[in-house]
Amino acid sequence: MNSQYYIDLEHKYGAHNYHPLEVVIAKGKGVWVWDVENKKYLDFLSAYSAVNQGHCHPKIVNAMIEQAQTLTLTSRAFYNNALGEFEKYITGLFGYDKVLAMNTGVEGVETAIKLARRWAYDVKGIKKYDAKIIVANENFHGRTIMAVSASTDPDSYDGYGPFVPGFVKVPYNNIQELEKALEDPNVAAFLVEPIQGEAGVFVPDDGYLKKAHELCKAKNVLLICDEVQTGLARTGKMLASDYESVKPDILILGKALSGGTMPVSAALANDEIMLTIKPGQHGSTFGGNPLACKVATASLQVLIEEKLADNAFNLGNYFRAEVQKMVDEFKNLTLVRGKGLLNAIVIKPSSTGKTAWDVCVALKENGMLAKPTHGDIIRFAPPLVITKDEIDFALDIIRKVMKDFK
Ligand code: PLP
Repeated sequence: MNSQYYIDLEHKYGAHNYHPLEVVIAKGKGVWVWDVENKKYLDFLSAYSAVNQGHCHPKIVNAMIEQAQTLTLTSRAFYNNALGEFEKYITGLFGYDKVLAMNTGVEGVETAIKLARRWAYDVKGIKKYDAKIIVANENFHGRTIMAVSASTDPDSYDGYGPFVPGFVKVPYNNIQELEKALEDPNVAAFLVEPIQGEAGVFVPDDGYLKKAHELCKAKNVLLICDEVQTGLARTGKMLASDYESVKPDILILGKALSGGTMPVSAALANDEIMLTIKPGQHGSTFGGNPLACKVATASLQVLIEEKLADNAFNLGNYFRAEVQKMVDEFKNLTLVRGKGLLNAIVIKPSSTGKTAWDVCVALKENGMLAKPTHGDIIRFAPPLVITKDEIDFALDIIRKVMKDFK
């Protein structure tokens, strides 16, 4: 069966909630994927930063196979012999009292919002149900009704109301506006991405997160960092908030927590916050399942053992410096920005009306996969196991495509 067969199948039988690039991937290993015609591509999206450890990492896959043959799911109705060990490992690694394991990133965010609201009523003493959560404009926290209620992107929220109340929206990277919003005594938390990934890799000014944390502390407001995309070595540190030595009150992780093998997410917090939720008050059938616990532990170990944060830091600096040379050379490439190996370029449409989408099609034809966002932005986020030679290979393709972009 050729690629067109699979594209037609998805189009006919699947919901049209995505607009994929026309490539049908059948196999992946490390930074490489192969389509059904066996053409090889360098993956520069990493499933939106879920495959930081590379496709089908042997240590993660082995942990998965071994556990899948032993025990996959008990539900939390019973104890299992994998959850506690995972909880001990991940809380030790990130320095929190406790963790609550969920599945998708948006469930991690939902958990953090619930925790913040419970803490607001039970600990801070805000009147039930007056608690507010401050969020940043252009945020992306997922696709549920809760998450789109917090969104300022019409593509995310339009047509889905009525919305969940209690979100206050402030401009990103604007301390003054945050400070004003924090004057409201009913604010429970500020939920923020240390770098806005989906919005197009917006890196705030140095000191923004640190100052935001100080302001929150002064007002007894929780800082929640959504590191679903920026966390787990992607930006050149284990967490993007490490750049500012900020330890959020609630940390949300997802995506690469399983190396891209299955949905695993987590919210981490100290006892004062985490113990506000009592038995029966929150959960998920699959959250904290033994398979996820073993896979997540292996995924975290790979990040550490293979020093993937350092690799992302060093190769990210090199990559941006090289792309900056192209920005100086090609007039349709207006800028490059990012941290570690979470980067984006901005494309000015060509005189013949070609856009970032056409750039991605040309990259694909030359053996490299990336996806545009918001029309003019292309995110570059390869698996963090990438080598300098492979980065150079990608740079050659980008240079060739931008040279021909007319
Ligand atoms: N939060 C952030 C910052 C994200 O980038 C994403 C996904 O891109 C999510 C939450 C939602 O994760 P999921 O798609 O696994 O629900």
